Amino acid sequence: MALGKSAAVVIGSFPLGESDRVVTFYSRDFGKIRGVAKASRRIRSRFAGALELFTLGEMVFFDTGRSELVRIDHFDVLHPFDRVRRDLERLGQASWIVECVARLTAEHDRHVALYALLVRSLRALEGPVPPARVAVCFGVRALETLGHRPRLDACTVCGRAYPFPRPALGAGGVVCEACAREDAGMVTARPATLAAFEWLRSERWEEALVMPIGRSENEIGAFLDAQVSRLIGQPTRTAKFLRDVRRLEPTSGVSP
Ligand SMILES: [Zn+2]
Repeated sequence: MALGKSAAVVIGSFPLGESDRVVTFYSRDFGKIRGVAKASRRIRSRFAGALELFTLGEMVFFDTGRSELVRIDHFDVLHPFDRVRRDLERLGQASWIVECVARLTAEHDRHVALYALLVRSLRALEGPVPPARVAVCFGVRALETLGHRPRLDACTVCGRAYPFPRPALGAGGVVCEACAREDAGMVTARPATLAAFEWLRSERWEEALVMPIGRSENEIGAFLDAQVSRLIGQPTRTAKFLRDVRRLEPTSGVSP
């Protein structure tokens, strides 16, 4: 039995019983944590709206060691990120980001760099940068941080060194034309897009957010979503939501 305390972001929740809620947090000091917030759905709850998706707060929890779920004792809001919930595109991209964090990590697996990337991405989503760009910058770095960086220096099938003409993108990275012919699932990639991927990965965060990369942004977004879907074994839930948003607002340039 242990008491824990950490800064954490709410990355998911669902109702439990009459008045409780199971909340998933991504915390700085303990990684992903799921816990029960007792009576949090009551009007006069001590959590009083603090457990909204994306909220950053200071969490105090009690781990009984008897259940996968900890008991959430307190969650004091440090930053609500309420601007992120105010329009559909921000909401959609932020949802994709927290879905990646929730589904690519294991419980109680501490990952300070990923936590910092999550908070930094939510902050950027409150600013002037187009939300799709924030999600792409997050995705490129999240894959790297979690050890799933796509290989872009050589064909992932035969090992032929890149650059070569007419590259394609497949599971795990770049594929040469001959190897791509063997697999119907490959998407042709423009060399500009592969170069943009490298920039987004290696430039300073502030630079990566504003660097002009044209339609490579959408192509990288689609590739990232395919990579994440492959890693979790099914399509991301948010990608469908984002496609629906794009149909409603065709000019918004939403990706992935
Ligand atoms: Zn090859």
